[in-house]
Amino acid sequence: KVELIDLSKSYDKQVNVISNINVTIEPGEFFVLVGPSGCGKSTMLRMIAGLEQITSGTLKIGEVVANDLPPDKRDLSMVFQNYALYPHLTVQQNISFGLDVRKVKKDEQRRRAEEVAKMLGLMEFLKRKPRELSGGQRQRVALARAIVSEAPICLMDEPLSNLDAKLRAHMRSEIRRIQRTLGITMIYVTHDQVEAMTMGDRIMILHEGKIQQVGKPIDIYNNPANPFVATFIGSPP
Ligand code: ATP
Ligand code: MG
Repeated sequence: KVELIDLSKSYDKQVNVISNINVTIEPGEFFVLVGPSGCGKSTMLRMIAGLEQITSGTLKIGEVVANDLPPDKRDLSMVFQNYALYPHLTVQQNISFGLDVRKVKKDEQRRRAEEVAKMLGLMEFLKRKPRELSGGQRQRVALARAIVSEAPICLMDEPLSNLDAKLRAHMRSEIRRIQRTLGITMIYVTHDQVEAMTMGDRIMILHEGKIQQVGKPIDIYNNPANPFVATFIGSPP
């Protein structure tokens, strides 16, 4: 599980962009972080990933206080909004990059990369470079790279924002299917309320760095905590 205890962040020591966040994300849960642009979603995800210093409060991953744990010691994988693929490496090398860094044997690397490539329909692209792929295919490579690491926790920051509506709908169910199959704990960032409502076991609505509401999509829809949530989710008046 991932536990955020009174977590705050300020970049300039004056204004908090994240204020006193308290939430526990359960093992195997698909947890969605949603809110308008600039509300602090990426900042929160990057703090969990260890890419951003925590200003105050406690982050626990499992039973371990993780505030000062280096990113590569956190047992998590991350999919960035821009995919962050290596242009000079093939799809296969991109997928198994993390395994290579961890000195996994070459044939084991290939086996695991192919297993995940099959899952995501990438087998025919393994020898290509990222620039020879469509946006949706690149997105799947980024996803494959996260999954192949077999990290129990996965963080995704608006991974579908560059896709067309049809592909986005397909990838939503694909991500959910893989997450369920592997039992991954997912923390998923989006600014799209439809995506949040359809994908999340629970969702957390953030506005100006503060939690507005946390709960199951249906409960939030039926009982929005305040007018901001009601408008954002589009609950009936
Ligand atoms: P979006 O949906 O547009 O990606 P977001 O919810 O991910 O937005 P963040 O990127 O977390 O928002 O930014 C939250 C606030 O922190 C914004 O006001 C932003 O300008 C500010 N901010 C982000 N990164 C920095 C930084 N490195 N230095 C100073 N301020 C920053
Ligand atoms: Mg962001």
